[in-house]
Amino acid sequence: MSWISEIARPDIVALKPYEHASWEPPLERLHANELPWRAVGDSTDAGLNRYPEPQPRELVSRLAALYGAEPSQVLVGRGSDEAIDLLARCFCRAGQDAVLICPPTFGMYAVAARIQGAEVVSVPLRVEAGFSLDEDEILRQCTPNVKLVFLCSPNNPTGNLLDEQTILRIAARLEGRALVVVDEAYVEFAAADSLIKHVGRLPQLAVMRTLSKSHGLAGARCGTLIANPEIIALLRKVIPPYAITQMTVEAVLKLLEAPQLAVMHSRITAIRSERERVSQALQSLPGVKRLWRSDANFVLVELADPEAAIRNARAANLLIRDVRAQAGVGRTVRISIGTPEQNDRLLESLR
Ligand SMILES: *Cc1c(COP(=O)(O)O)cnc(C)c1O
Repeated sequence: MSWISEIARPDIVALKPYEHASWEPPLERLHANELPWRAVGDSTDAGLNRYPEPQPRELVSRLAALYGAEPSQVLVGRGSDEAIDLLARCFCRAGQDAVLICPPTFGMYAVAARIQGAEVVSVPLRVEAGFSLDEDEILRQCTPNVKLVFLCSPNNPTGNLLDEQTILRIAARLEGRALVVVDEAYVEFAAADSLIKHVGRLPQLAVMRTLSKSHGLAGARCGTLIANPEIIALLRKVIPPYAITQMTVEAVLKLLEAPQLAVMHSRITAIRSERERVSQALQSLPGVKRLWRSDANFVLVELADPEAAIRNARAANLLIRDVRAQAGVGRTVRISIGTPEQNDRLLESLR
């Protein structure tokens, strides 16, 4: 047992997990109270009458290979959302522990913390320094009850990458005290490397990846946490045994073959070039006060009249995201990069 188990919730460390029906495919299953026949019209390979394999080995090893990690460093969940929730539940004692976030950022970190009864400590990004991390203040606010530091890179809704060296320095300082969880939901759209390569030597560093954005599989609900095997083992005790449906397992394995990955890469290139085109066009619009450089598949824009922009986009049958409620980003909207035709229609509506 390392320091990881010492900072985790003691009741989770001691927890005896649910014993699911054993997974022994060569044997016929009369041990899980399943029906022996498939439902009419069930076209899955394995049959939906059977419970799926918990943490399906083939999917885990495929995702490990995709992300350059070992299977023992991988937890597959229903999107990154599930990893965020599991981390809060495994590391934060209700009413005692805290998570640290750097707003404006993804809302799920604070929501998961609050559901767990953990305190949320906010250290805002430095708006005037390109939404960069306030390293000194983060370290100052990391009191012993802070167990998780969520950093989102590229950050949602601001679109910028966080500085890798700063993240690594924060992680180095928190060894033995807290986990630094880097959410890389949009990293495929950035010209930057993943931090996964550091996970092996830094047990306090965990990285979240997802198939929801760059792979175009948001509906499949498949996210991956890459972390020290001790963290993964702890979370595996808490994740529901059959979290990943058989439909997702089969769909994702088919959709992560080489031809699909090639298409994915060409689409990332297309999104990046549209991002640059849309950014340039936005900058020349009179109502646009400010536009931030984005490393993701969306842009954050400050507008003279965000209400009118949202209304006009809606009249063009397009939804854009109102992010004014988030700290530090005044009159801004977040716009996802769509097809060239959608982007043109949006730009026209803002003109
Ligand atoms: C979209 C998004 C995710 C993805 O969540 P999933 O549950 O994997 O769909 C994770 N983090 C951030 C910051 C996001 O914007």
